[in-house]
Amino acid sequence: MNRRLYDKLIFEHSRAGRHGYSLPRNSFDRHIDELPQSCRRAEAPALPEVDEPTVVRHYTNSSTNNFGVDTGFYPLGSCTMKYNPKINDALAASRSIATLHPMQPADTVQGALTIYWELQRALSEIGGMAEFTLNPFAGAHGELTGLLVIKAYHLSRQNAGRDTVLVPDSAHGTNPASAAVAGFKVVEVKSLPDGTVDVDDLRSKLNDSVAAMMMTNPNTVGMFEKNIPEIARLVHDAGGLMYYDGANLNPMLGVARPGDMGFDVMHINLHKTFSTPHGGGGPGAGPVGVRKGLECFLPNPRVVKKTDGTFDVICEDSSLGRISGWLGNFTVYVRALAYILGLGAENIAKVGPLATLNANYVLNRLKDVYELPIPGPCKHEFVFDGLKDKSTGVTTLNVAKRLLDFGFHAPTIYFPLLFHESLMIEPTETESRETLDSFIEAMRRIADEATNDPETVKNAPHDTPVSHPDDTEAALHPVTTWQDLCAAQNS
Ligand SMILES: *Cc1c(COP(=O)(O)O)cnc(C)c1O
Repeated sequence: MNRRLYDKLIFEHSRAGRHGYSLPRNSFDRHIDELPQSCRRAEAPALPEVDEPTVVRHYTNSSTNNFGVDTGFYPLGSCTMKYNPKINDALAASRSIATLHPMQPADTVQGALTIYWELQRALSEIGGMAEFTLNPFAGAHGELTGLLVIKAYHLSRQNAGRDTVLVPDSAHGTNPASAAVAGFKVVEVKSLPDGTVDVDDLRSKLNDSVAAMMMTNPNTVGMFEKNIPEIARLVHDAGGLMYYDGANLNPMLGVARPGDMGFDVMHINLHKTFSTPHGGGGPGAGPVGVRKGLECFLPNPRVVKKTDGTFDVICEDSSLGRISGWLGNFTVYVRALAYILGLGAENIAKVGPLATLNANYVLNRLKDVYELPIPGPCKHEFVFDGLKDKSTGVTTLNVAKRLLDFGFHAPTIYFPLLFHESLMIEPTETESRETLDSFIEAMRRIADEATNDPETVKNAPHDTPVSHPDDTEAALHPVTTWQDLCAAQNS
């Protein structure tokens, strides 16, 4: 913790006897108390004693100490931090939705079930799948659910020996983790120098223990996996299923559908592609789609449309069981459906191409000063391997921190692990040409500073409340409450 943090974040504003309210005097007989003596506490509670302006300024200033999509450009690769239209938040917060109770009988919540069912249908159309469940709470949770569907499928065919899941070495860390949690062995498949799956390596790893192959497309280095038809044929011929990690479906919108590419099971991150602000860890939803023939394994409970046109919530015996309480994170579905209907079929088809255009624009205007290990064109995102000129000792971490001084959130750094100085940039489709230009200008200026004034970059950021936190110290002695902060200040 440095001194500047204390100066900017003074949490202890309490002064004995100060308050920000005045209640009317007791208008009853002064011997009649509002509360009987027996119900009163002997001592006042230890609450902060503050006046109203101090409270307002404390919270207003605290709210600006963080960075969000609403405060600036947030090109965090693999996370799709796009701008989320405010009307979607307003709809999710509306009284009729915010006051729903999960135990209400189905016939009293037909409107909510319509939203759930229509979103299921829309995602099935977008993904090219037969059916979706919305129940999982996040991408990783969707992966687990999808892999449990695959497990249930193999078990239903008396195929318990299929206990292995193939995962490319470029995959998001959640892929091998989810496979392990679902009880599978994980076997890694190598990538070629261009970042795509090495089909020969895959071929050597196929046998009758393979339950599934997980793929991310575009993959985590932003490349389109051009061999998917061949990969799908090889895996299917070996008796395995194809799993599509659709956390980054954004560039595919309006371009291609996983179901048409030969995938059997997929998940989507609503909180990346379909409008839910997800900085700070939540909330989210990781719906899972399946091709025809796998619907019966989807988790309970399920929303179905009855022949009379009304909706019901049912549980089925063939299901893999429950993976969440009730029907998941409902307000995230409201935002997603509002986003899809707001854009409409015609405009949703522009999302992927525009996200791809923006990424290629930034890539091409920076590749002479930053190292591009995999030549473009890219899809929605791309990876630099640090600055081109490494002689100055300025690292990816330094560049990321210096960007904060220019009002930009850092890209994803040191991921994927394929390169030493990864700097992964995803601009998204919601940014204007002017925003991209000023980001490019800042990145170029930092590259210039790295050569001419490296200390300025190495000591950045200079203008944020927290400059250089000690990562180790923060993990060992986390300061998570104002009491911790005051104790740290006084020690
Ligand atoms: C974000 C992401 C995930 C995990 O999603 P969570 O909602 O954070 O669990 C999985 N795969 C890829 C490719 C991702 O980008």
